[in-house]
Amino acid sequence: MAGKIYIIGIGPGDEKNRTLRMLEAIKESDVIIAYTTYADLIKDLTDGKEVITARMKEELYRAKMAIKKALEGHTVALVSSGDPQVYGMAPPTLEMMCANNVNVDFEIIPGVTAALAAAARLGSPLSMDFAVISLSDLLVPAEEILHRVRKAAEGDFVIALYNPINKPLLLKAMEIIAEYRKGETPVGIVKGAYRENEEVIVTTLSEWKKYLDKINMVTMMIIGNSRSYICNGKIITPRGYTSRYDYVNAFNS
Ligand code: SAH
Repeated sequence: MAGKIYIIGIGPGDEKNRTLRMLEAIKESDVIIAYTTYADLIKDLTDGKEVITARMKEELYRAKMAIKKALEGHTVALVSSGDPQVYGMAPPTLEMMCANNVNVDFEIIPGVTAALAAAARLGSPLSMDFAVISLSDLLVPAEEILHRVRKAAEGDFVIALYNPINKPLLLKAMEIIAEYRKGETPVGIVKGAYRENEEVIVTTLSEWKKYLDKINMVTMMIIGNSRSYICNGKIITPRGYTSRYDYVNAFNS
């Protein structure tokens, strides 16, 4: 009898931001498939299980192994950081099943994605409409990425940038955003949200380049919209009601 694949998001990396459903699913699984770093982040949960690790670019191998193991009757946990749909393992696995006419029982288990984890550390920057854009040009051409950045900037969306490690592309993206937003627009940089050695930086569109050295494989950037501001060291994006709400009066009456 075929088994099942749990396509799991483990959250930003710490134990406290795991979901109960994710813990249950890992417990139930006898095979764990993960990118090496993620396997390390859940080491405490995988004792006695078969753990198959793979390097970063081996997504298709991980998807294949998950499907094959499930077809053999195993219960498989296929692990992504954050949420598995957000630049994670859910799409390649579902696409591989679809392309090969295979239909194994599966369940997607959501997790706290990096944009939300980083945002929580920065204050409340994502409180109005926001756009999530990955700067990885491995699977999407750079021109298309920059086109989306331009449209998001033009639409005054708060912008959350995943995979900013591609520095030339990051610099171009930020230049495009600067065409539409003022220099004092808040920029948040969070390195390793909820992980050991986490770093949280609140800066602005005119100053952010000072922190280029903070940008690595686990850095998230958030750029405020035209109404975002910095107060008490945190980024606030109003929910759009500032002209309707009198916060001072409401607090003092
Ligand atoms: N599925 C993941 C995203 C994978 S793409 C999720 O939902 O979060 C990998 C990118 O996510 C990294 O380059 C980085 O931009 C971001 N990221 C992942 N974990 C992070 C963390 N703990 N802190 C900050 N950014 C993180």
